[in-house]
Amino acid sequence: MRTIFFKAACLVVVMGCNGGSGKSSAPPQAAVCDDSLPTAQSLYVLPYTVSESYRVNQANCSGFGHSDFWQYGYDFEMDIGTVITAARAGTVVHAQDGAVDGDRNQTNLVTIEHEDGTVALYSHLTLNGVLVTAGQLVAAGDTIGLSGDTGNTGGLPHLHFSLHPCSDLPGLPGAGSCPSVFVNFRNTSANDNGLEAGRSYVALPID
Ligand SMILES: [Zn+2]
Repeated sequence: MRTIFFKAACLVVVMGCNGGSGKSSAPPQAAVCDDSLPTAQSLYVLPYTVSESYRVNQANCSGFGHSDFWQYGYDFEMDIGTVITAARAGTVVHAQDGAVDGDRNQTNLVTIEHEDGTVALYSHLTLNGVLVTAGQLVAAGDTIGLSGDTGNTGGLPHLHFSLHPCSDLPGLPGAGSCPSVFVNFRNTSANDNGLEAGRSYVALPID
């Protein structure tokens, strides 16, 4: 089974937040988080079971774990083993398992490519928590994995979710040329400017 060092969703520990690409990080830039999209127009639904609610521990442009390449993304606090669902229909690109919870060097993850070429990353999944395989087609709301505490979570079990314009992410084959982009979710309370850290969001039924 492949095991690849991957530091998505990293806190600024050990490698900084360049995703562990081995390249020196660009100088920190002032976080610009003025992105906005009407909630109802979002193509994405929250990546967990309808009617459940989870707290966002870290949102966009936190200046800590979510900066630079990883500027946009959400960390949902979850007990290990929580069901993770696809935020949008697509095809599984990466399905990487094998790390044990508590392993800070390897992350279990899934990436899913959508019809417009964008790619969603779901990381820190638990051991044996990757429930899809590369090439598999999934619909929004389909179960794809179980949350966990693998990789650089800071010791807080959570799901890291981020959206990228392509699948070239640090630690996976390639050079890591697809930094995170803004995303919000249509099946919850208004979040035109993205989810807010410290708030919990219930997943409403998917239309
Ligand atoms: Zn994160």
